[in-house]
Amino acid sequence: MNDQPFSPEAAARYLARHGNLCPNCGSVLIEAGEVIAPYNGKFCQDVRCHACERIWMDIYTLARVEPKSLEKSCFVFESPYIPGNNPES
Ligand SMILES: [Zn+2]
Repeated sequence: MNDQPFSPEAAARYLARHGNLCPNCGSVLIEAGEVIAPYNGKFCQDVRCHACERIWMDIYTLARVEPKSLEKSCFVFESPYIPGNNPES
């Protein structure tokens, strides 16, 4: 297992792209597991790249809270690119 830290540039690029590209090889072929919550006040998610087989953890912190409704759910907030669930479409 490659547990060497990512370079600061690679980590910054990964965060700037909202975790959509592998921080090791830049591939979009990444797959995330379920979010484990909370881990020492943070939320943690295992992620794997199917192109280079690198694995890593995404660490989240709680940013805000909002009431949930039929119009507003995590699916709408977090999956804006899925057809039919894009608020702008
Ligand atoms: Zn990769």
